[in-house]
Amino acid sequence: MDDSHLIYVDRLTDERIEKINCQLTPEFIDVQEKDLSYPDPVQAQGEAYVASDHLVVHLDVSTTALLPCKTCNEPLKKNVSLHHVYHTIPLSDLKHAIFDIRDILRENILIESPQFAECDDNNCPHRVQFSEFLQKGDTVTKVDTDEHSNFPFAHLDEEINKS
Ligand SMILES: [Zn+2]
Repeated sequence: MDDSHLIYVDRLTDERIEKINCQLTPEFIDVQEKDLSYPDPVQAQGEAYVASDHLVVHLDVSTTALLPCKTCNEPLKKNVSLHHVYHTIPLSDLKHAIFDIRDILRENILIESPQFAECDDNNCPHRVQFSEFLQKGDTVTKVDTDEHSNFPFAHLDEEINKS
């Protein structure tokens, strides 16, 4: 089994720095929603070491989030990349001598994932059609209000102006 996501804390003696370099299948993120999922592997690079009775984990993380465009609803991939994620855990809080970095990865990926996305760098081509539709709607409304015969209180305005 690939154990590149596991840190053997009891081996981190004498200021030893353990390099972390792993690629994980995204299932561990455990989010498969209609509006958010993670289709691609998670890359994590960094290091782990022990400093003053704490385990220190320092990571750069990247993966991809899949979510719908807020305008046209087409599925859209967004990079999720995190730099210099630092996590410190008191050694006394560690239940096992082996620490699994996937908990840190999951938590940070969820926090950093975009809540909204739009195609073409926030310039969804479907937005144009939507605004054209809005302009047509405006024109129709104007025609209605300019048409005095369709405005039952038009004569009231005239009477007020007379007095
Ligand atoms: Zn779109």
